[in-house]
Amino acid sequence: MKIIGLTGGIGSGKSTVTDYLISKGFHVLDADKVAREIVMPGSEMLIQLSSNFGKGILNEDGSLNRKKLGSIVFNDPEKKKKLDELMHTRILEIIHERIVLLREEYENSAEIAIKSDEGKKRKVIFIDAPLLFETGLDKSVSETWVIDVDDETRIKRIMKRDGLSRDEIVMRINTQMTRDEKKKRADVLLDNTGDLEKLYSQIDQLLESI
Ligand code: ATP
Repeated sequence: MKIIGLTGGIGSGKSTVTDYLISKGFHVLDADKVAREIVMPGSEMLIQLSSNFGKGILNEDGSLNRKKLGSIVFNDPEKKKKLDELMHTRILEIIHERIVLLREEYENSAEIAIKSDEGKKRKVIFIDAPLLFETGLDKSVSETWVIDVDDETRIKRIMKRDGLSRDEIVMRINTQMTRDEKKKRADVLLDNTGDLEKLYSQIDQLLESI
């Protein structure tokens, strides 16, 4: 079984690639989705967060007040580090648990499915992880795919998608690991400067060789 970690900077096209893979019938674990799941009201993680950062991070209905938590850690590197540690540890645990389940599922059905198209799809698990390298999750995958796009193109795409200003986007880009660093660590580089057709045909080629 192959585990492929998918990453890229803000607005590089991770969701676009993920949606395409899902439409082709592949499993994609979404680290951002897991991050949202673990802070649902009443969750163990919310209890840990409120004991570390105060009950003020909870809304009246018990949900997480992301703005409040953000403002607490924004100018305090120690608190930010603690938050990342708590969240990333739990996210990685859950991703590993889900991989185990999918692996079991694959092994149990492998005899019948291994030669079929369906079997091929079950042989791979993708993980969409914006912080694949930063969290060390790259060490648990068989291969890393980095989606790369020049800054000007992604700025324009994010402006269109989110209605953010250029300055806000540049600020976010500057807080992330650089494009060059990500490219250096990539086993496979997906160039997303062109249109969607170009992106999809690169993915199709890669899927052929899995
Ligand atoms: P984030 O890091 O913010 O979660 P992301 O990496 O998931 O973003 P997407 O949301 O997939 O990036 O892409 C950013 C925007 O660019 C989206 O609006 C998407 O539809 C658009 N986009 C992605 N790839 C292309 C492309 N090849 N041509 C045109 N638009 C694209």
